[in-house]
Amino acid sequence: MSHIADNLQAVHARIERAAQAAQRSPDSIRLLAVSKTFPAEDVRAAFAAGQRAFGENYVQESLAKIEALADLRTQLEWHFIGPLQSNKTRPVAEHFDWVHSVDRLKIAQRLSEQRPDALPPLNVCLQVNVSGEASKSGVAPAEAPALARAIAALPRLRLRGLMSIPEPADDLQAQREPHRLLRALFDALRADGIALDTMSMGMSGDLEAAVLEGATIVRIGTAIFGKRDYSH
Ligand SMILES: *Cc1c(COP(=O)(O)O)cnc(C)c1O
Repeated sequence: MSHIADNLQAVHARIERAAQAAQRSPDSIRLLAVSKTFPAEDVRAAFAAGQRAFGENYVQESLAKIEALADLRTQLEWHFIGPLQSNKTRPVAEHFDWVHSVDRLKIAQRLSEQRPDALPPLNVCLQVNVSGEASKSGVAPAEAPALARAIAALPRLRLRGLMSIPEPADDLQAQREPHRLLRALFDALRADGIALDTMSMGMSGDLEAAVLEGATIVRIGTAIFGKRDYSH
């Protein structure tokens, strides 16, 4: 087995243990393999090991990778999870299945306008800033309900849920706090009648905390593909 297949197996085991501790079904948690900075061949290796959903952060890099893997396109699900500038929305609307990082109405409007009619609506999550001043991206929790309502009304998008990238913390209890905040917001929006089914939270370092607080998608890069090298 490749190291990627071994790593995937280990991550699935972590998800299962965490689900058990949370008394949740492991099937209620999807693994998104974050392949940013890693080559198309690594995505192929993960695909061969059964992985289907992949997350990317950078528009140019991801388009080249999607192109290199065009033979697998119908079997893969591509999720855009990085910061998105308004002048880069078109290729994302045209080539991705999901966008997790929507935090402004303008970006959502452009994605909706640019989503090709031949494709199903683009699945989107609202990125919420759960770390206060420490983080610049994501909508403030107090502004999330109005933004969620406006996005839910856009014709070519399907609002699925909330996403967060908390500041890293070392111990489980500290890691759980921002995830609990996202969970409370998720429950409040649902109680308000907004149909959401997705909480995208948890990375290699805080997967367990995220599963304990209700994550339905965990975004895992390092634990699957290894340490990222940004030097080239
Ligand atoms: C890079 C990245 C991840 C994966 O992080 P790891 O710590 O490598 O698992 C998850 N989510 C987002 C938004 C990222 O940018």
